[in-house]
Formats: sequence, C-alpha cells, structure tokens
Amino acid sequence: MESNINNQIDSSKGDMQVPSSNDQKILTNDKNVNNQLKKPNYSRYRKNNFNNNQNVDSIQSKNVRINGNNKSVKTQTKRTNSYRKPKELKPVPSMKIVFLGGLNQIGKNITAFECGDDIIILDCGMAFPDGEMLGVDLVIPDFSYLEANKEKIRGLVITHGHEDHIGSIPYLLRKINVPIYGTALTIGLISSKLKEHRLLGGTKLNEVRAGQTISLGCMKVEFIHVNHSIPDAVAVAINSPAGTVVHTGDFKIDCTPSRGEMIDLARFSELGKKGVLALLADSTNADRSGYTMTEKKINESFEHLFQKADKKRIIIATFASNVGRIQQIINCAIKYGRKVAFSGRSMINYVTIAKQLNYLEAPDEVIIDIDLLGKYPNEQVVLVTTGSQGEPMSALYRMAFSEHKKVEVGPEDFIIISANPIPGNEKMVGTVVNELMKLGCEVIYESMYEIHVSGHACQEELKIIQG
Ligand SMILES: [Zn+2]
Repeated sequence: MESNINNQIDSSKGDMQVPSSNDQKILTNDKNVNNQLKKPNYSRYRKNNFNNNQNVDSIQSKNVRINGNNKSVKTQTKRTNSYRKPKELKPVPSMKIVFLGGLNQIGKNITAFECGDDIIILDCGMAFPDGEMLGVDLVIPDFSYLEANKEKIRGLVITHGHEDHIGSIPYLLRKINVPIYGTALTIGLISSKLKEHRLLGGTKLNEVRAGQTISLGCMKVEFIHVNHSIPDAVAVAINSPAGTVVHTGDFKIDCTPSRGEMIDLARFSELGKKGVLALLADSTNADRSGYTMTEKKINESFEHLFQKADKKRIIIATFASNVGRIQQIINCAIKYGRKVAFSGRSMINYVTIAKQLNYLEAPDEVIIDIDLLGKYPNEQVVLVTTGSQGEPMSALYRMAFSEHKKVEVGPEDFIIISANPIPGNEKMVGTVVNELMKLGCEVIYESMYEIHVSGHACQEELKIIQG
C-alpha cells in the first residue's frame, strides 16, 4: 500500500508540484510520503495550473487517495483557487553605453547611450591612419550596431568641432539620416563639411547653447560650457530614467582662456550633489600630473618670439581649429605692426567660418591674401599655416620640401610650430623641422618656448571634475 501511494505521488511530479499547505497535510498523514515530495515550484504551478479546474480536480483525486478525506480536499481546492498572483514588478530602467570608438585610441570618438527604446549618439569623429595603414586616407568607426538599431536613434549630439569628433558625420549620414545638435561654431563647421559632401540639404541641423536642455526620446541632454582648444565646446549631462550620466567631452579647466569664459564648474558641482550614475571624462592627459597651463601663457611667449624674430618673416604653424590661438597671433601681429596671411585649405576654412560667426576678430586692414606677401617687407608680415603635425600634404610640409606654389622659405624666415605632435606624429614633425633647418630657417618647436598648451585636462583637473 505504501509503495502504491509513493507511485501516485511520483506520477504527479510530471505535471505539477503542490503548494506547501498540501505538503503539510501529507506530512501529518504519512511522513514517508512527504519525504518523496520535492520543494514546490510556484512559478510552474501558476503558469500551468492557475485557474485550470481540470488540473485542480486532478489534485483532488490524488489527494483523496493519499488522505482518504474528502473534507480536506475541499479546503485544499479553495486555497488553490484563492492563490494570489504576486504583483508584477516593473523592470528597473537601465542605461547601456556602447563605445563604438575613442577608447584606447586617439580619435574616432563616438559613443551610443541607449535607454529603453531610445539611442542618442554622442560625437562622430574620424582618426588619422597610422604609419602601418598604407593607402588609407582616414579611419571611420564601424556603424553596424547603429544600423541594426536604426529605428531607436533619436539624435546625434556633438560636443565640439574637432575632426576627431565630427569627421565621420558624412559617412554616418549616408547610412542613417539623423538630426544633429551642437553649438553655433560646431554647427557652422559641420555645415561646411556637409556642403562638401553634398549632404547639407537633407540634414536637420539644430543649434544649441551651453545651459540649454533638449529632450531626445526618454532622455534629456543638458549642454555645459567647458574650456578646450576650440571655442564653443560643451560637456553633456544625459538625464535618463536610469539616472544621470555626465560626459565631459574634450575639456580642460582654464581660468583665463584666450576667449570666452571659464568652464562652468558650478553646474558640474550641482549635478554631483544630485547624484551621477556615471562620469565619463577626457583621458588624453590622464597620465600627466598637475594642471594644464592656461592659454594666456601663450601670449607672453608670442610677444617674446615676435621681438626675437626682429627683421625676419614670421611663419606660425598651428591647428586650424584652434581659433583662440589664431586670435592671439592676430592680436600680437597688430601690436608689432605686421599683416597676417593664411595658408592651407583647412586653415582658410576655419578662419572664414569663425570670422562669419564672430568667433574671430580679424580686421580687414590686418588680413592680407597670401599672394600679397611679397609686397611687404619680411618684418611686416606673419603667415599662419597648417602642417603643425608634419602632414605630408600640408602647407608647411610643402614649404619644407620647396613644393609650395606661393611661399619659398630660407634664412630670412622665423618659423614657430605652435603645437605638440599628436602621439604617433613625432617622426613626421621631426622630418619637416630638419628640412626647414637645412634651408636655413630658424625653427622654434615643442619645448623650446611655451608656444603651445594642451586642450586637455591633466590629473588635478580630472580630480576636480570627479570631486
Ligand atoms: Zn577636441
């Protein structure tokens, strides 16, 4: 008889397990039977048997055999039907951050922030090929994740107008047409790029300003003013149902920037007090101790070098995008009675846009066309050029190898390279400096004078932002 009962309990295992109240009853009647029962599986019970009278009946019949007590069975049936389904818990919102470029490398910055059914893309930059990428002109990110989630993308937010943050926009737009958000200068630079790629007409460009907040799907993006080596740079605070994520973009803390105000540290502090889920920060100079020097320091160096150049023609190579530095050069040229000319396609492009948007004060009586350089004595001109990274197609490179159509350099030239080589470009810069020196030019570069400061935060500044 006992073995019979066991068999019946065993057979019930195949289609259900009973709640513990039933177990208890069995225990009181027959300990051996209870030993054969396994711990009940409620979820399976609910799924398979809740509100299923047929199965409830089968409990009755089985228990009848075990207990031989119909009364007890009734009670059990009632309990089974009154079993309450637990309240469904709402899923906890979470944010997924997908790095499609920019980590463990210089350039190609692009990050996707995904929350629920919404994705925001932050920056869309390119990288320059390294020496091993023969025949490659530029490197763009892999957009396949974005293409696969196309319908979730609500917007492309840009922190600033450097190529490693905007350079790949045309290539993304060819795959996904997404509205773009950025500050005035950033949008100006993107417009010029899209015009070149014949994409300007079909793209929604939205101008924002620091302090403004926009809504993109379930997320809100707040723009915060930061200092960097290009005007109008912003950090973003992305407010989502999962919490707030702060992304600094490229930044440094400069109390005396060459133009505009210092970084909005107060806003970072307020966000910190409210609670931040994650802080993503510019790590370019994370291995450098101390603080990045202020742009103001460059003024003193330029003044000193302008005096040192004396009767020579001054040629300054710098990043075309460093509008603040170009402004400092123009100011110094005015002070020392020199006219300013520009060389290099990107230099002319940046200067034109920055001037149009009032980010650069370049009086017409000071700026001259490069063709007019020869009409002025050497001590009355400054030529601002591209090529500070020794790029083979750049204007300074062509001058160094006597390939420039309009400028020939020699012992009467005082050349300043107002930039540090980006990691990987040291050799190219060295080659250009050597060639210029062979031609008899006086060349000021790298650490000889304080002719360049980085646009990126050092360790102490990173601590301040984190604090
Ligand atoms: Zn930058």
